[in-house]
Amino acid sequence: MLKLHPSIDSGFPPASPGFLGGTLKCKCTTNPVTVAIDAQTAHNHACGCTKCWKPEGAIFSQIAVVSRDKVNVASGSEKLQVVDQSATIQRYACRDCGTHMYGRIENTKHAFYGLDFVHTELSDQTGWSPPEFAAFVSSIIESGVNPERMPEIRARLTELGLQPYDCLSPALMDAIATHVAKQSGVLPS
Ligand SMILES: [Zn+2]
Ligand SMILES: [Zn+2]
Repeated sequence: MLKLHPSIDSGFPPASPGFLGGTLKCKCTTNPVTVAIDAQTAHNHACGCTKCWKPEGAIFSQIAVVSRDKVNVASGSEKLQVVDQSATIQRYACRDCGTHMYGRIENTKHAFYGLDFVHTELSDQTGWSPPEFAAFVSSIIESGVNPERMPEIRARLTELGLQPYDCLSPALMDAIATHVAKQSGVLPS
């Protein structure tokens, strides 16, 4: 059985109506970092890029966005460090277990400024928005997946209802392009 991600492989429940968030916890058994997310997430998806945190053995990560003002470190902030200061998304990881707790964009001109990136599988709560598509699928080859496995992997994603894309979904790519066009003035802002 092909394993893509533990929260995806056996299907996933729909979002709970009225769901208001939960608490993400890192993998440390003592003094874990905890992050309170005080809202439902959006645009949850499987991601094949090499930057997103993946649980042990997973080919894909699972990542969603939420407004940054709904993200608050509840405990263990002293253990958080930015994985790559030069990256567009500043990913805050636990220095002890390596789990990424949230990713934040500080460039106010970026299309996704104001949104933090989170892995809702780190929460004990159920009801989060389920994955809707798979992004950056071809990039899993950069992590060492044999290219010959790609047809099988894309077929499995499709079977799970996660349309595979090699960038982001059309809706998100359109949002980025619209933002760029408004900044350059070719579209009215
Ligand atoms: Zn940890
Ligand atoms: Zn990613």
